[in-house]
Amino acid sequence: MIITCPHCGPRDLAEFSYFGDATATRPDPSSTDQDAWNAYVYDRENPAGEHREYWQHSGGCRGFVIVTRNTLTHEISDIRLASGTQARRKRK
Ligand SMILES: [Zn+2]
Repeated sequence: MIITCPHCGPRDLAEFSYFGDATATRPDPSSTDQDAWNAYVYDRENPAGEHREYWQHSGGCRGFVIVTRNTLTHEISDIRLASGTQARRKRK
C-alpha cells in the first residue's frame, strides 16, 4: 500500500506506523466518567469499507495524517494532515 504523505509525497506503507481509529471522540480531559474513557480507549468498530485512521510517517517527516481507507480494498480516498483537521474543528 502506498500512502501519499502531504510533506514527502508517495511512500511505502513500511515507512508509516498505525495510530488507530480517527473517528473516536476523546472525552473531556477533566471527565471522570469511567464508562466514557473505557469506551474511548478499548471499544472499536471493525468496519468493512471506508474508515478514517491515524497514521504517522515515522520513517520520514514524523507527521501525523488522517487516512480515509477502504478496509476491504485498501483503496485510499483521502489523506490530510491531522493537525489541519483539528484546526478546522476549532473554527466551527
Ligand atoms: Zn512525511
